[in-house]
Amino acid sequence: MDFPARGRRRFLGQLPAAGALLAAPASLLANPMDNKKLGVALVGLGGYATGQLGPALKMTEHCRLAGVVTGSRDKGLSWARDYGFPESNVYGYDAMAQLAGNRDIDIVYVVTPPGLHAQHSIAAAKARKHVICEKPMAVDVAECDAILAACKEAGVRLSVGYRLHFDPLHEEVRRMARTKESGAFTKMSGGFAYTMGRKTWRAEKKLAGGGPLMDLGIYVVQEACMAANATPVAVTARERPKKRPDFFVDVEESIEWTMEFADGARCEGFTSYDEGRNDFRAEAKDGWIELKPAFNYGGNRGATHRGPIEYAAVNQQAAQMDDFALCVKEARPTRVPGELGRRDLAIVEAIYASAAAGGKRVAVRA
Ligand code: NAD
Repeated sequence: MDFPARGRRRFLGQLPAAGALLAAPASLLANPMDNKKLGVALVGLGGYATGQLGPALKMTEHCRLAGVVTGSRDKGLSWARDYGFPESNVYGYDAMAQLAGNRDIDIVYVVTPPGLHAQHSIAAAKARKHVICEKPMAVDVAECDAILAACKEAGVRLSVGYRLHFDPLHEEVRRMARTKESGAFTKMSGGFAYTMGRKTWRAEKKLAGGGPLMDLGIYVVQEACMAANATPVAVTARERPKKRPDFFVDVEESIEWTMEFADGARCEGFTSYDEGRNDFRAEAKDGWIELKPAFNYGGNRGATHRGPIEYAAVNQQAAQMDDFALCVKEARPTRVPGELGRRDLAIVEAIYASAAAGGKRVAVRA
């Protein structure tokens, strides 16, 4: 695709860089925690914690890795050496109540499989720590409600690990949706899928809550809501026949769905553990935006009707955690609160209900 140079937009000049978005003048910070980097404890030292969150915590300005909760004490001690926190800040999963007495730790980041998010988030809240819970927030709406109630009761803040809200390409989707400069987005489509080679908890309903819809499709659900600037009123869905039923015993292997919004906008979504896809497109009367790849940690590419989008790369995870640390320090709401995670589970539940009912239109009760 070739686009006229005059149509190209330089994002650096138009959107504040993540650092600028996140930085706040010291004079505006008013509580005793202001000058300190908040301490984060990661719960679960698997792939995402090791590959993304830990390294991002070496780049953050407003928080730092101060402890871990893990099933392997040796692994925890190795993290303590690598990240420079005391060995006393290594906890087992059944010792999370002891976090309450640890003043080094302000925020607990739950990065275990979704079937354990409620248990670990509630334990963190009871220890009076602010909570970031990875996506999907839990396996169903009832568990989301339990997490929200525990955080409310403890008076702590709750956020979901929706890293794409901190990525400039996705901010452009939201900006165009908000300003309606090309009209409202009415026709959307998106897919996120990969081929699962080795069976993990992601193919087990008890720990994952479902199949690829819970893990990958939720990104498309999120993006459609961002582009529509709304929650869908209803969905229809169809599970595709399984090619590997022995592998995906109690979860879907592939599923497609349609989200309907009150203004007539629609999004066609797809997710699978049996093929590759990574894209999102939204069309309005006078313009469009397309992201492809759309959902990666970095290197996503986008274009609008005006041409390719150029933007300064950010570390999504560092920006996300820094923003939450600032929200805690400044006592302001996060842009990715627990309520958003709950809303998405309500949409996911409606999608599963529609697929189970042979594609019947199901109202979303978010
Ligand atoms: P993983 O399997 O690599 O790690 C899971 C961790 O949980 C491991 O340390 C494991 O030991 C621990 N664990 C504790 N109890 C367990 C149990 N009963 N069964 C299995 N594991 C158990 O998974 P991951 O890819 O790191 O994903 C963890 C969470 O992070 C999930 O909620 C996932 O959706 C989320 N995630 C988010 C992103 C993102 O881009 N936001 C990316 C990857 C993963």
